[in-house]
Amino acid sequence: MNHLTRRYFAFVFIFLFLLLPIRVQASAPIIIQGAMACETESMIAALTNPREERIGPWRFVSGDYQGVPVVVSVTRIGMSNAAASTVLGIGHFKPIAVINQGTCGGHDPSLHTFDLVIGADSFDYSAWVSQPQMQTASAEDIRFFAYNENDELHYDIKLHADAKLLKIAKEQSKYYTKGKAVVGTIATANSWNRTPGRIHFLNTEYGSLCEEMETHSSAQICKMYGIPFIGLRVLSNTELHGESFNPEAGVISQEFTLMVVKAYYASLQESQK
Ligand code: SAH
Repeated sequence: MNHLTRRYFAFVFIFLFLLLPIRVQASAPIIIQGAMACETESMIAALTNPREERIGPWRFVSGDYQGVPVVVSVTRIGMSNAAASTVLGIGHFKPIAVINQGTCGGHDPSLHTFDLVIGADSFDYSAWVSQPQMQTASAEDIRFFAYNENDELHYDIKLHADAKLLKIAKEQSKYYTKGKAVVGTIATANSWNRTPGRIHFLNTEYGSLCEEMETHSSAQICKMYGIPFIGLRVLSNTELHGESFNPEAGVISQEFTLMVVKAYYASLQESQK
């Protein structure tokens, strides 16, 4: 091989194995999940070149949001739907990150409708063991548990948001004007709590700021796949103040999520330079 041929091969090698993967990586999307129409419709409307797909009964709309490749995933309501659509979304779209967002009910007495909860972590409050010596499974007599990725039972029940997504969501929350913004724990289950005593228990014993039905399911799947994840929620209701479900919270959540998506993508591109 002469000098020029060697150079040519070196260039082809660098392009194929070093530069191409970076470009492919840069065009991989961010999946943004919402369970209901009021939590997904305005993001879908904001996409240019939208492309609609159904995988099984789940809807995915990919497109471009101000230069950011995204996939809006309509998960449907509840933990099974969230988990299943997250697995399918990850397999099909190979995302760089997943954000689960939408409405929630308040657990912290300081929070009202339209306040924002940035999910530093989440847990499944339907996973608990009760005590054999008790007559009832009252809140105080149950113990929450989780299984880790090695299938081991443990009591360190919270899964943490990706550090970079969390940092960016906190920075963006400075521009949030619809209510106050707090950072903390999201409690997930296929339940709707209306009882102040149980809400108080989850808030004081487990630091839960709000409840909903999807975040922790998606968090768990993303943890298994090693995909960066965060949950972002806007209060649509709070039993503690007699505020009933307001779907406008879903629209506000989408607005804030798109701000986070844009800032996150920009910071990834910055760190790739
Ligand atoms: N359509 C219903 C509200 C939605 S039901 C109504 O009109 O009243 C459940 C969905 O709302 C789930 O996707 C869940 O994530 C979210 N949600 C909002 N507030 C909730 C709460 N207090 N408890 C549980 N889920 C809540």
